[in-house]
Amino acid sequence: MSADDIDRSKPPASWEHLAIKSGYTFYGRDKSKRATVLLRCHTCSELMSVHTHVLRTARAECTSCWLNALSSEAESAGLTLIGPDLTDSHRAHYLGVCGHTLNRQRGFIQRVGRGEVSLRCTDCLRERYAEMAENQGWSLLGKAINGKPNYRLFRHTCGFEQDVAICNLQSGRFTCNACAGNWASDPSAVYLFQFDFLDERTRLLKVGMSRNPASRLRHQLGLKDEVRAQILRVVTVASGKKALKAEKRLHGILRAVCPEFVVPNYELNWISVVSEIYRIEALPLISELLSDLEETLRSEQNPLPPKTNCASSRGLMQ
Ligand SMILES: [Zn+2]
Ligand SMILES: [Zn+2]
Ligand SMILES: [Zn+2]
Repeated sequence: MSADDIDRSKPPASWEHLAIKSGYTFYGRDKSKRATVLLRCHTCSELMSVHTHVLRTARAECTSCWLNALSSEAESAGLTLIGPDLTDSHRAHYLGVCGHTLNRQRGFIQRVGRGEVSLRCTDCLRERYAEMAENQGWSLLGKAINGKPNYRLFRHTCGFEQDVAICNLQSGRFTCNACAGNWASDPSAVYLFQFDFLDERTRLLKVGMSRNPASRLRHQLGLKDEVRAQILRVVTVASGKKALKAEKRLHGILRAVCPEFVVPNYELNWISVVSEIYRIEALPLISELLSDLEETLRSEQNPLPPKTNCASSRGLMQ
């Protein structure tokens, strides 16, 4: 705002008085917005514009002083202030010494600065868990399905997903529930689920493998309340190993043929999986692929009898 935009004529005495009471000197009025007044802060000497309503009814808080306080609190906590969180006035964005950005409540950062609580960088922690998991043949997927804060969801190299307690991850004392139960040789299935959102516009699909699709759907997907789920199709497969192979092949085809129907993982905040969800438009293709799979499995089970030479077999009988 330039000096020309400011009306420096004398304001009503009550306004000057109110400004002083709040720790400011009345500076002028914004010519373009008559309901806006400019105040100079006694603490930091910065100018601040506020609505006259704020001046009359509430104690105006100096933005510059507030930012200075946020910044020095951040420093005490070993962080650098990036800026306030514009969606929540109680929170701000900070930069950690590790280089990650953190979004925390101001009150929490103040407590860190006073040494009452310690600060942990969520990203650093996630990286550490992911590395520990990787060394043991697992990949970290995210929050645990059981909802407990000391658990996370992991996927084993066999494709099976399960919650593991962090202490067990650290000690390495856990096994894959699927591998332990001979998942590779036990009968399994490739399933197709449909998810309908209550907004009645979004319909999505999930293809996967499980020994028990109904239980997978009911207990292991962590669906949000606004999502209704149903099993569209289940193709039973003789072994887990075969089911996993068939499932991977299916995903490979879908990604190659219709990448536009693959739902990106940043849209998957309503389910506890991070991939393998498709838009409803992929339904005809998925149905066709599942029918092909059924056909292949059937022909493997009942191979055509080897061609016999009728004439010679008749001949033998004679
Ligand atoms: Zn100030
Ligand atoms: Zn970090
Ligand atoms: Zn496994």
